[in-house]
Amino acid sequence: MIHFLNLKKINQPFEFAFQDKMKQFLEGGWYILGNEVKQFEKDFASYCGSKYCIGVGNGLDALVLIFKAYIHLGKLQKGDEVIVPANTYIASILAVLQADLIPVLVEPRLETYNINPEEIEAKISSKTKAILPVHLYGQLCEMKAINEIAQKHNLLVIEDAAQSHGARFSVQCSLKSVQSELSDEAHPSPNTHHPTAYSFYPGKNLGALGDGGAITTNDDALAEVLFSLRNYGSKVKYENEILGVNSRLDELQAAFLNIKLKHLEAENEFRRRVAKQYLSEIKNDKITLPYWDLSNNHVFHLFVIRTSNRNHLQDYLKENGIETMIHYPIPPHKQKALSNWNNLSFPITEKIHDEVLSIPLNSGLTVSEIQHIITVLNKY
Ligand SMILES: *Cc1c(COP(=O)(O)O)cnc(C)c1O
Repeated sequence: MIHFLNLKKINQPFEFAFQDKMKQFLEGGWYILGNEVKQFEKDFASYCGSKYCIGVGNGLDALVLIFKAYIHLGKLQKGDEVIVPANTYIASILAVLQADLIPVLVEPRLETYNINPEEIEAKISSKTKAILPVHLYGQLCEMKAINEIAQKHNLLVIEDAAQSHGARFSVQCSLKSVQSELSDEAHPSPNTHHPTAYSFYPGKNLGALGDGGAITTNDDALAEVLFSLRNYGSKVKYENEILGVNSRLDELQAAFLNIKLKHLEAENEFRRRVAKQYLSEIKNDKITLPYWDLSNNHVFHLFVIRTSNRNHLQDYLKENGIETMIHYPIPPHKQKALSNWNNLSFPITEKIHDEVLSIPLNSGLTVSEIQHIITVLNKY
């Protein structure tokens, strides 16, 4: 059986490094907000080309805390509307709700699965104060168009990069050396670096061995509030300036992440290489392959294909020893937890949820497993 994602296998190459760290950790005896978290915050900020990184408990909290920090700074108010993609993992939407803001759903493009910038303006009201683009499956949204809309309507932009660690990095890196060769489309303008939320849930491209998350930002005031918010609203022990929460990146998880961060670029490169092979070698009229412009704007957290009889294809792959997953089977607006939205209609979002299937794509795959997946899909 080719598993969809075998985390044990993914983490096996780091086993000895983890054990060394664990030994140091036990000898050190410092468990909360220690040197490992500080090191990770420094290195991840630098990796992302950001001034600050704030380590938090998980990806959902990363988003919630950005919204709460903006509320604290008076840039958002309870009841403000936030534009979110209708086609996303529910966490993006829950974060908006948890901060007492109102999510307004916008349809995706069928090709990219990401929020369609052309649909955003119709949803903007006098109460709209922010846009939350989600870089779904690892592919950056059309940020140039989104930034223009945000600028025109004076909206904040907060990015959900829980699935896209490193997607922007290579672009920013090349920006320094070959800026003039890149089209405007190819790179985000450096001064529009928005507060961005990351998750280190074990299955993400940069995954911990438990929960973890982070926020990157260039904004001094926002960073100051975030460092305090995540730690009981306190900068000096037992002095609480604001109403904070307990959502700190765990010291041990940070230690594991410090080891794995060094390999993230190679991981993303590997994923892109396999994606390229899938895109050129999977040839079947019944299967729609994902859109990709071949740039480093995609880190292929997931390789998501579409087909009209998805469950049939999933069964067929299972019979042929290939485990697949569905990201996601039920759109947020059809979830019981969001029952007041159940009557809303988002046809493109619903079509995507009916047709998508994620095939295995991760650093644990062997050459022959990749070949088997291609052969079996071509025979369908
Ligand atoms: C994983 C994920 C989150 C939440 O991350 P957690 O660490 O699980 O809280 C948020 N948004 C998206 C798009 C995700 O995929």
